Amino acid sequence: MTGYKDNQLIHIHPVEAFQDNYIWLIHNDQNSIVVDPGDASPVIEILERKNLNLVAILVTHHHADHIGGVLELQKKYPHVKIFAPKKDKYDFVNISLQDGDEINIPELQINYKIFEIPGHTQGHIAYYDMKNLFCGDTLFACGCGKIFDGTHEQMYNSLKKISGLSKDTKIYCGHEYTKKNIAFALSVKPNNSDLLLRDEHVSNLKITIPSTLSEELKTNPFLNCTSIEAFKALRDLKDQY
Ligand code: ZN
Ligand code: FE
Repeated sequence: MTGYKDNQLIHIHPVEAFQDNYIWLIHNDQNSIVVDPGDASPVIEILERKNLNLVAILVTHHHADHIGGVLELQKKYPHVKIFAPKKDKYDFVNISLQDGDEINIPELQINYKIFEIPGHTQGHIAYYDMKNLFCGDTLFACGCGKIFDGTHEQMYNSLKKISGLSKDTKIYCGHEYTKKNIAFALSVKPNNSDLLLRDEHVSNLKITIPSTLSEELKTNPFLNCTSIEAFKALRDLKDQY
């Protein structure tokens, strides 16, 4: 069984870190999970304010802005389980995950399915509970991550993999880049009415995440590429934008 038990309330909150990072906090009335804690202090602050125990840390990839707070959180919450991609090396003890794995967080009665989604990095993974996808720096709202130690071909295939999930999947990414991404998308597709609507919709929002996969399929130019070459050309254009 994957997904949430229907009889308990799960909340998902963004914890803002650095300039534009989101650390995702998933909790019930006692226990919590954080995704990609690049910084420990805003996490500890909210956990103490809400009186929550930290039971799991989910890491999507090895960049410092996603793991910088892990060691400090582990010190503060010594029983926390840390999950991370098998293909990466970490200086903290972790349960390493690869494509197709499933993990269970009993304190919140949540299961996650693991997808390998390389491209931004070689080892990048996503966590999926059948409703919510935590995808780090792979798919952004109206954009996608830069190619660092992965390849364009990997990123293209990872985005196709995500595109095949249920359309109402909520997309929880690692950064607030939405307005800039929409501006770039409009520079490529100035007459796309869904994009124009989305631009208007986010103009008064400070936090634009989560989005939904259906929204992304309609407006995200990186999901609409039909070849790796077209994807690479668009990614190169965005890198120079
Ligand atoms: Zn990154
Ligand atoms: Fe990042």
